[in-house]
Amino acid sequence: MNKKTEAILNLFEEINKVPRQSKHEEKISAWLVDWAKDHGLEAERDESMNVLIKAPATPGYEDKPVIVMQGHMDMVCEKIAGSSHDFSKDPIKCIVDGDWLKADGTTLGADDGIALAISLLLATDKDVVHPPLELLFTIDEETGLTGANTLKPGWLDGKILLNIDTEDEGVFTIGCAGGRDTKIEFEYTPVEVPADDKVYELRVWGLAGGHSGVDINLPRGNSNMIAARILDEAARNAETKLVFIEGGSAHNAIPRETKVVFSADKDLTSVLGALREKIISEIGYAEPNMKIDITPAVNNYRNELNAKDTKKLVAIMMAMPHGVAAMSKDIEGLPETSNNFATIKMVMPASKGGLLRNETGSVSILSSQRSSVESRLDWISRKIEAIAVASGAKTSTSDGYPSWEPNMESPLNRKCVDIYKKLFGKEPRVEVIHAGLECGIIGSKNEGMEMISFGPTIKNPHTPDERLEIPTVQMVWDFTVELLKDYCK
Ligand SMILES: [Zn+2]
Repeated sequence: MNKKTEAILNLFEEINKVPRQSKHEEKISAWLVDWAKDHGLEAERDESMNVLIKAPATPGYEDKPVIVMQGHMDMVCEKIAGSSHDFSKDPIKCIVDGDWLKADGTTLGADDGIALAISLLLATDKDVVHPPLELLFTIDEETGLTGANTLKPGWLDGKILLNIDTEDEGVFTIGCAGGRDTKIEFEYTPVEVPADDKVYELRVWGLAGGHSGVDINLPRGNSNMIAARILDEAARNAETKLVFIEGGSAHNAIPRETKVVFSADKDLTSVLGALREKIISEIGYAEPNMKIDITPAVNNYRNELNAKDTKKLVAIMMAMPHGVAAMSKDIEGLPETSNNFATIKMVMPASKGGLLRNETGSVSILSSQRSSVESRLDWISRKIEAIAVASGAKTSTSDGYPSWEPNMESPLNRKCVDIYKKLFGKEPRVEVIHAGLECGIIGSKNEGMEMISFGPTIKNPHTPDERLEIPTVQMVWDFTVELLKDYCK
């Protein structure tokens, strides 16, 4: 093993002795500050426990641009069933297995502990020629981007930031999507279910689902949209009234299951059965495990929306966009703007059993928008708000997190591509991802910040199978050393 790789992995092993589960970063942030002081470096901690370590330039390069090395100090703590590992005190084992480093039945924490190890060595290794360095280590990237969100503008001097949190060596990430959630609240006054109405239960389930950012361009079904089409067909063929609806699980997951109960004054078995077959023939190729069950049920429900409110709600569901709204103009095959029609659920304030006669009920629809272009993010959120406005429903959009708009022509991006090609004799892949990253937030607080993200290869992060490809650690080291040297020219 190369000497520098060995030194990085030794540091990583030290880091892995310190507990650092997301939202429990007291110990690791104190460790980082102590480590800096032990090595004669200035270190500061903010109220959130983000850490900033400053390393002076190699003598003679004090006037060169300050470079920020950034990574997150927290890690996802997952272990295999039966493991007695206690993440609040037990060190994480580092096991070398050929070219791979792995843990013993737990996440390894290379995401993103390897960024800490590489940065600490860069700041202290006498062989590295570098401009002034700022090492920024953030808390709680994994469960809320909290460290980046609470970062004080003006804390950093540097205007060039290298984020070490991309999990494929040879990939440069130069942009990410911003995101927001828009909620629609549809209110209704419940009516009694007529005793002689037919009642149907609809269950759409077994869909593939997936992450609403990185999987949004795949040809997959959305159980809420399928339920909307069946309800729409019902309402066109009979006086249909919604009794119950619940679909989807989280704002960032493509919905896999939706349950609906509705009543009708006519038998709808054959008309809905026919639509069911059409939907299966449309998307069955992409959703082989999808099931659409439409079953007559016993009429023992207490209350429902009236037919007019049902039609309005179904219209909102039918109008709701889902999927990619615009593709990137810079990067082929990358979604630029999208929406996930994420969840729909009935709110029953009186009790779990349902509303009282004089109460107002509501149905809440949550959707999640993403775009790497801020003005497009405004557009798609407002488009969804407009659906609510047109149907008299209440709506609100969260502040969300900002996008990191890619700049293919940035000097940092060009420099990185040139150095990579010279060093390894191959083209790196330059990517923008359709999900949130710390860089988006850090960039929004530091006007004019040039940023890029890269890192060694990590497989299966966030699982007990997480492993780090050791030879790529050396490649990231060699590349970063060259880049820092180049900024000393
Ligand atoms: Zn990470």
